[in-house]
Amino acid sequence: MAFTHEEQAALLAGLRARARRLRGEVAGKLVDAAEDAQDGRGGHDSGEQSFALAESGLDLAEASRDLHELQAIDRAVLAIGAGTYGSCERCGEPIEPQRLMAQPLALRCLDCQVRAEREQGGHTHRL
Ligand SMILES: [Zn+2]
Repeated sequence: MAFTHEEQAALLAGLRARARRLRGEVAGKLVDAAEDAQDGRGGHDSGEQSFALAESGLDLAEASRDLHELQAIDRAVLAIGAGTYGSCERCGEPIEPQRLMAQPLALRCLDCQVRAEREQGGHTHRL
């Protein structure tokens, strides 16, 4: 889809703000994970230790999800710069504007997304 200069600037600003927030969250979660792991080592019994380690694992899982989103944001920012943003990665057709408004990180048009999800056996993917 063709974006006006203003729309593109607003989109970039939104993506960068989201990326900034995500980076802060990732940093916080990694610190939490390290602290939980520390608690685990210092735990009085094995139950306490495994609970702390499980907490640590959850923090890491969340941090890794955020990192994936950060990568998607980076891709979108690059694509905007290259003028390829908003094209479906599968069929090359423009992604529906409404879809992009709701999901600025969408990589595929609705048709291709539905088809891809069907191929994956009905598992839905957030992007
Ligand atoms: Zn498509």
